[in-house]
Amino acid sequence: MHNDFIQELSNLIGTKNVLLDIDSQKKYVSDWFGRATGVALAVARPANTEEVASIVKLSAKYQVSIVPQGGNTGLVGGGLPNSSGKELVLSLERINKIRSLDPLGKTISVDAGVILENLHNYAHAHGLEFPLTMGSQGSATVGGLLSTNAGGTAVLRYGNAREQCLGLEVITAEGEIWNGMRSLRKDNTGYDLRDIFIGAEGTLGIITGAVLRLIPSPKARLSALLSLDSPSLAIQLLEFVQTKANSQLTAFELISNTCLSLVDQYFPQFPYPFSSKTPYCVLIEISDNESEEHAYELMNTMLEQAFEKEFITDAIIPQSLAQSKRFWEIREHIPLAQVEDGKNIKHDISLPISKIPHFIEQASLIILKQFPNARIIDFGHLGDGNLHYNVAAPSGESADVFMKNKGKMNELVHDLVDQMGGSISAEHGIGANKAHELIKYKNPIELELMRKIKKSLDPKGIFNPEKILV
Ligand SMILES: Cc1cc2nc3c(=O)[nH]c(=O)nc-3n(C[C@H](O)[C@H](O)[C@H](O)COP(=O)(O)OP(=O)(O)OC[C@H]3O[C@@H](n4cnc5c(N)ncnc54)[C@H](O)[C@@H]3O)c2cc1C
Repeated sequence: MHNDFIQELSNLIGTKNVLLDIDSQKKYVSDWFGRATGVALAVARPANTEEVASIVKLSAKYQVSIVPQGGNTGLVGGGLPNSSGKELVLSLERINKIRSLDPLGKTISVDAGVILENLHNYAHAHGLEFPLTMGSQGSATVGGLLSTNAGGTAVLRYGNAREQCLGLEVITAEGEIWNGMRSLRKDNTGYDLRDIFIGAEGTLGIITGAVLRLIPSPKARLSALLSLDSPSLAIQLLEFVQTKANSQLTAFELISNTCLSLVDQYFPQFPYPFSSKTPYCVLIEISDNESEEHAYELMNTMLEQAFEKEFITDAIIPQSLAQSKRFWEIREHIPLAQVEDGKNIKHDISLPISKIPHFIEQASLIILKQFPNARIIDFGHLGDGNLHYNVAAPSGESADVFMKNKGKMNELVHDLVDQMGGSISAEHGIGANKAHELIKYKNPIELELMRKIKKSLDPKGIFNPEKILV
């Protein structure tokens, strides 16, 4: 049966776009860290929306499950096949054209396989910006960003991927093409189907196109790196700069000493930025629509007052745009330094912002009681209440042995998050990795409604089975 399926698939999209051997499949079946791996029946690389629709029809006929994949930078196993060798990975990477840009309406219409960085560059060349920004932007695609409702560093000001999307084109489980490529800001004509597919992690349909909002490019973007003694002071600083800079505040990232030290250790080109160790630092960014001078003026005044109020102990204000960019490179090298350092147990959590200092204090007490000397690597988009709270083996101990504690560690961290009214997935999604935990933490009525939606949109269960819902 599988041979017939592969034969028909090759007839549809050409033999060279159906990858069958293990070597050519490699990058599609292992995750960004090169750790989680699955086994695919084949990897299909269609060239356009119509080909995706035909593949879905064919898969429905043969009952072959489809795992949609964009840049494969997702961190929860959502875009990977399971180990059965029976699932088809459907890569959107060749469907990557910018369809049109409307400078007056400030919208852009794109294929789902467009890479975020290419979208940034295209919009920028037209004096506009697409505000979603993150460390994976060189590979992450529009389809993946929407399917995970991705966040990133500018959510504080512009919102998640969902807020950037006006319209979608989706292939349904019947292989139909739903053309919802509308660029309307207002459209109250019944159930919002677009929002159902956003954040669905490829379990309800395959996104092949999107209409996205753009914003005018600011005249200046200025960052500063500020050292401070505790997360509690970081929260007070956040409230202060939000009042002072208002909507000009576009990012507010918390970074712990452990993160700065790891980047320094593995990437000496980014040495520890402060003259002495600091428990925490904050990377802030303001965007200014007047001028660079105006941005500097606001930043300087704000930071002078932050010193007076004793929120911060040191501040590095860049002398140039290049230095500003370097701060972001330090931030982006935190995940890379963790890869160099070895495996760790990751948590992508969100909490009511005011509860973050208490969470950090409590979580470290609970963890260190059970796992003395474990290294806590915490950083995140503090302005959105989103922490990446990762735990690594004590220095000198085996990471592989430590990873055996993953289940227990997840339980300790996620129970505390749950008690404090938080979420076990802030921005990476549920994928395969957190599907079992979702049952524990999600309200049963919500879970049941989600199951009904899945059953009604994908009755044969061919889209990304065992992801989100198990
Ligand atoms: C270094 C690094 C930094 C990161 N930083 C952030 C961050 O700041 N914020 C954040 O939110 N995430 C972050 N991520 C996670 C990741 O980049 C995002 O989840 C991104 O949205 C995934 O896009 P992708 O194209 O790589 O999707 P993939 O990994 O290919 O897929 C992700 C999920 O979407 C589904 N999917 C993909 N394309 C489609 C489609 N066209 N139609 C339907 N379903 C589809 C897949 O089946 C899978 O379930 C980071 C990852 C890395 C490696």
